[in-house]
Amino acid sequence: MRKFDGKTLVLATHNQGKVREISALLEPYGVSCVSAAALRLDEPEETGGSFADNAILKALAAAKASGEIALADDSGLAVNALDGAPGIYSARWAGPEKDFGMAMQTVQDRLGESEDRSAAFVCVLALGWPDGHAEVVQGRCDGQIVWPPRGEKGFGYDPVFVPDGFDRSFAEMTQQEKQRISHRARAFAELVKTCFEEV
Ligand code: IMP
Repeated sequence: MRKFDGKTLVLATHNQGKVREISALLEPYGVSCVSAAALRLDEPEETGGSFADNAILKALAAAKASGEIALADDSGLAVNALDGAPGIYSARWAGPEKDFGMAMQTVQDRLGESEDRSAAFVCVLALGWPDGHAEVVQGRCDGQIVWPPRGEKGFGYDPVFVPDGFDRSFAEMTQQEKQRISHRARAFAELVKTCFEEV
């Protein structure tokens, strides 16, 4: 595993919420983050066939364009009885209006009478170097799809996902509760363990 050996990390996202969250998380490691948006880098098209392909593609595009090490993520919901759908298409199932009520209804309709309602949220993080090297880590959170949707907190598919070992959906949990077990938190823990050293 190659360690992060720079001072500045480019976050290959134009999402300000993600930039704030990740910057705070990496502060104890003496890393200062700058977003792809601040550097006016273009967002590449997500043409990969897996979460890892897309995360690597985004990280390397930002690393090559900026000359700095870059971090990208790709995440989504994978439903077992649907062969892993919506998977890398999780955002796209909500359409241009980002209608997750519709996206959750599609999951429910496609599951139909299926007894297997198991699913997982998956998050892949890729750290990319300007020379083309990439390190990839993954975090997952297993659970069950429930219907009807429950809870008002969270975002995306949170209201229909109950993580294993719990009886509340992600949308019924506080942000702190969700962060203790989420796919994203687990991927970051793995990334920090393998690629960063506390200063
Ligand atoms: P992206 O990785 O930002 O492209 O997000 C992919 C999509 O996956 C999001 O638009 C959400 O639909 C879904 N997703 C990823 N993580 C979560 C989560 O923690 N809760 C609910 N939906 C999620």
